[in-house]
Amino acid sequence: MRKPLIAANWKMYKTPAQAEEYVKAFLPLVTGHDRDEIVLCPSDTSLGVVIPAVAGSNVAVGGQNMHWAEEGAYTGETSVLMLTAIGATHIIIGHSERRQYFNETDELVNKKLATALKHKLTPIVCIGEVLAEREAGHTDEVLRKQITLALVGVTPEDAENIVVAYEPVWAIGTGKTATPEMAAEAHLLIRSEIARRLGRHVADSIRILYGGSVKPDNAIALLNQPEIDGALVGGASLDPQSFAKIIKY
Ligand code: PEP
Repeated sequence: MRKPLIAANWKMYKTPAQAEEYVKAFLPLVTGHDRDEIVLCPSDTSLGVVIPAVAGSNVAVGGQNMHWAEEGAYTGETSVLMLTAIGATHIIIGHSERRQYFNETDELVNKKLATALKHKLTPIVCIGEVLAEREAGHTDEVLRKQITLALVGVTPEDAENIVVAYEPVWAIGTGKTATPEMAAEAHLLIRSEIARRLGRHVADSIRILYGGSVKPDNAIALLNQPEIDGALVGGASLDPQSFAKIIKY
């Protein structure tokens, strides 16, 4: 019922030339693959080459971050109008690296989500606990709080397009992965919180991705969990072969 979505987060890697080369190698590896929605999220400077390079294919393109305002005096930022004008269809919001290094708060995440929904960009909203929170037994509380604050003001009608990524921060870029059971448990909790706020129908249609050191050799076990509706992949998405292997788990 929920079409899985597998997204690549290239973080601050790849020049436009490298991004173009990647797409050339990657597209033939996923031609005709329609079981999953496939999304590449390059850095802003590569969007202009990746979007035309995937045109007409089964691959969509998203940004990694954007400002909540439609335009304004915000030096160094990218707006939703700029992203949609060049054909981006998805946007990662509240990635833990943004929260950790750029002081992105739940309030900002909520504002960005509202902007994305208004402009019909599919938001991939990232939430997840840090190691100390998991070890202290606070994971459920942290996830409930993050999803609740992200969804403030969101109506059930708007919410169906939202994609949530559960990314335990201790698993991102560390080679440590949540076990499939741990991830499924977190996804169930997130879905039940969404149901409480927006209704069961909405909760059942929202895709919840797992992210955190997904690799070709652990993708099957994670993605076979019925609660896991896809993956947000960082490091292992930088190589076209490895990302294609994850997609074809
Ligand atoms: C990410 O960047 O969202 C991510 C999950 O990274 P990695 O796959 O490298 O852990």
